[in-house]
Amino acid sequence: MADSTWILGAGVTGLAASWISGRPAFEAAPLPGGICRSYHLRPGESEPIVEAPEDGRAYRFENGGGHWVFGGDSMMNVCLSGFAHWRRYHRKSSVFFPESKLYVPYPLQYNLRYLDQTMASWAFDEMRRAPANPRGTMSDWLEQVFGPTLTELFFGPFHELYTAGLWREIEPQDGYKSPVDLTLVEQGLHGEVAGSGYNSTFLYPECGLSAFADQLAARGDIRCGMGVVRVDTEKRRVEFADGSTVPYTQLISTIPLHRMLDLSGIELHERPDPSTAVLVLNIGGIRGPRCPDDHWIYVPRSRSGFHRVGFYSNVDNDFTPRGEENRAALYVERAFRSGAAPGSAEVAAYSQSVLDELCDWGFLESAEAMHATWVDVAYTWSWPGSQWRAKAMQRLSDAGIQMTGRYGKWKFQGIADSLRDGMLAGSALKALG
Ligand SMILES: Cc1cc2nc3c(=O)[nH]c(=O)nc-3n(C[C@H](O)[C@H](O)[C@H](O)COP(=O)(O)OP(=O)(O)OC[C@H]3O[C@@H](n4cnc5c(N)ncnc54)[C@H](O)[C@@H]3O)c2cc1C
Repeated sequence: MADSTWILGAGVTGLAASWISGRPAFEAAPLPGGICRSYHLRPGESEPIVEAPEDGRAYRFENGGGHWVFGGDSMMNVCLSGFAHWRRYHRKSSVFFPESKLYVPYPLQYNLRYLDQTMASWAFDEMRRAPANPRGTMSDWLEQVFGPTLTELFFGPFHELYTAGLWREIEPQDGYKSPVDLTLVEQGLHGEVAGSGYNSTFLYPECGLSAFADQLAARGDIRCGMGVVRVDTEKRRVEFADGSTVPYTQLISTIPLHRMLDLSGIELHERPDPSTAVLVLNIGGIRGPRCPDDHWIYVPRSRSGFHRVGFYSNVDNDFTPRGEENRAALYVERAFRSGAAPGSAEVAAYSQSVLDELCDWGFLESAEAMHATWVDVAYTWSWPGSQWRAKAMQRLSDAGIQMTGRYGKWKFQGIADSLRDGMLAGSALKALG
């Protein structure tokens, strides 16, 4: 049994599963880590470098934009410490309103004192009148929970950008990311509310994300460059792009759920749930005179269509070239529908537009390194009442394919939970003997 169980995908979930079980993980990409990898870019160059250059004269960027490990409990932290040295940071993030140049500390609902007083008291009244069980789509949910004032000001336009326009059709999700505790709302009308929100502290590995992924990979059996092109569920056989095959009894798959259905030729007579992509634009340059000191900011309106700007270099100066003063390393995220990747001319025009906008805002003086990455399945969503996810996972499970990880399970979660999924999957494979 044990020699016909395999893991598909070697992002953090597959890496953890291989580490625990000792079973091979087949990965399409040339390197392990999935979305959790960093790369390097020298000022004035456009070709990314995999390894950090010895002279340190390069920006460190990440494939998926800033990836900070939050939500890990003490046991997970002990586990992480076996693979890297981690630094802990206290989150500093804000909502930024470009028209008025106003920064409101995150989360907005606990910092209403930054708004005009009349607006703040309307918003508080509306939140007090929220129904006990808000229902409907994500837009209905936001409007009922936060009321029309804050929805119009921030939650509406932000979610329009963040979900690439899907927010009026999809189910609400991640309520814990937007909590409303009326005592804290009231407290925030007059003074500071300490450390609230789901990610008030976070960890990042001292030597970067790739070093962590590589250490994890070194403890498992990772076979990169092995893209799965078909899973024959009748013959119980996995087929790879290079023409080779392996038989299977059980597969642990971290490949996005809809792709796994396609690879296995399983047809569901259900409308598939949607996902959205993210174009991550990494920029290094001279820090502007009004560059905030936040780790990231949420932007409800931007000329270029992005919704979040992160500042790697405000988390740690290690992200900027060694020996250079006054440099900033940023990531800018813009959502698209999955499968709607812009062409290179469009990316170039967008990059210029973002740079102009960030310079206008005073975040940057100029750029000396810019590179964009595309994450086709970045956020997964559900249609209201959809049974697609449950049915898809069941049909695959019946065929011996157990889906796990953020994209395999089609569930919003961070690195810590994905690692946890992988460790559980690895234990299951180990138990099979
Ligand atoms: C924009 C963005 C920002 C995020 N920020 C954070 C953050 O700050 N903190 C945090 O904790 N989490 C964050 N996350 C979430 C985090 O990235 C995920 O929880 C985690 O990386 C999921 O790991 P995974 O292994 O399940 O998936 P993946 O990393 O996607 O791994 C799946 C692997 O399967 C491989 N694969 C796909 N198809 C095939 C095939 N046919 N054959 C073989 N291999 C295949 C892929 O190449 C990939 O390596 C963020 C996610 C996004 C999109």
